[in-house]
Amino acid sequence: MTDDIWDTIIVGQGLAGTTLAWRLVDAGQRVLMFDPAEAVTSSKIAAGLITPITGQRLALSWRVNEFLAVARAFYASIEQRTGQRFFYERRAVRLLQSVEERMQWAKRAGQPAYQAFLSEMQPEPLIASEVAGSDGGGFEMRAAQLDVAAYLAASRGMLPNETAALDWSRDVVFETSHISVLGHRCRRLISCEGFAASRNPFFPMLQFKAAKGEILTVRFHAPMPERTLHCGIWIAPTAEADVFRVGATYDWERLDQVPTVAARAELEGKLRALVRVPFTVLDHHAAVRPIIYLSEAVMGLHPTHERLGVFNGLGSKGSLHAPWFAKCFADLLIDGAALPDEVDLRKRTL
Ligand SMILES: Cc1cc2nc3c(=O)[nH]c(=O)nc-3n(C[C@H](O)[C@H](O)[C@H](O)COP(=O)(O)OP(=O)(O)OC[C@H]3O[C@@H](n4cnc5c(N)ncnc54)[C@H](O)[C@@H]3O)c2cc1C
Repeated sequence: MTDDIWDTIIVGQGLAGTTLAWRLVDAGQRVLMFDPAEAVTSSKIAAGLITPITGQRLALSWRVNEFLAVARAFYASIEQRTGQRFFYERRAVRLLQSVEERMQWAKRAGQPAYQAFLSEMQPEPLIASEVAGSDGGGFEMRAAQLDVAAYLAASRGMLPNETAALDWSRDVVFETSHISVLGHRCRRLISCEGFAASRNPFFPMLQFKAAKGEILTVRFHAPMPERTLHCGIWIAPTAEADVFRVGATYDWERLDQVPTVAARAELEGKLRALVRVPFTVLDHHAAVRPIIYLSEAVMGLHPTHERLGVFNGLGSKGSLHAPWFAKCFADLLIDGAALPDEVDLRKRTL
């Protein structure tokens, strides 16, 4: 047992745990993280895309201006502290696939909120014809991308952490003034376990509507533009010039991390139909997005264990939402500030 007491121990060093850790460290706390350092997790395989105009309805992402400003400032500050680069402002091209999408876009395109995210000069053509067809029209927008794996690795190098998976029934002991965890003591213990929290005995109230996602990494054998391309699937650049991520599937039934032949065939088929450039698949991964039923996130303190908390449910937009929500939760933990009602664990479950 160490003599010192940690202000907060965080269980899980994914996007949620890492971002909350930085927020608490910024507020002057001593924070320790536990994580088993598995090769494949939702955060480690995520493409990290931040896309302001999304989905078949071409909707503006919820509170995107607010979230993006906070995310940009947060990731820039961590880049500066770690001396590593992982946040990229990127143009993204959306090709329209159907008459419905074209009609939807005709209604949306002129609205000032949308205009603010469109490139001032729309490229003509949007995509070179040797790369992909763009006959159905589309638009180029200002988007961003977090290299999530690089962000996690850089953070792990600077934040105190231990390589261990916590067994909640065995490793957590509630004392009067603190919690004991695997030879450490802390004032607060926060679960940031992603979908693994569905097995956490203290949080049976989390209503997951999680979705397995599969993603490919491919090498193109001719130059591709350094922009993300969305058209049913997305194709996103990486730090390596001709290597791109291609994704992603949604499966609400088989919630495991096993890559499937069917998902690979689906992604490769859509990629071939969209892009004329030959490619080789370098790898194929699957993980479960921690989506909470009808919510963009969920966080807060346990209804009966005041020292225990949870931060989860970042869903498909963790890169955009994590910095803002982690700040909300840190403000609660440090100053007792109220959480937004819609993400407050206690308000959602009482
Ligand atoms: C294929 C795919 C593509 C995606 N693409 C995007 C995208 O383009 N943009 C975007 O914003 N989001 C994307 N996401 C979603 C994004 O990855 C999630 O929002 C985010 O990763 C959730 O982070 P998390 O920290 O909550 O969970 P996780 O990433 O699952 O992290 C949880 C961590 O806790 C650890 N852990 C679990 N249990 C324990 C325990 N008992 N003890 C210790 N450690 C434990 C795990 O090992 C893991 O490291 C994608 C997800 C997938 C699967």
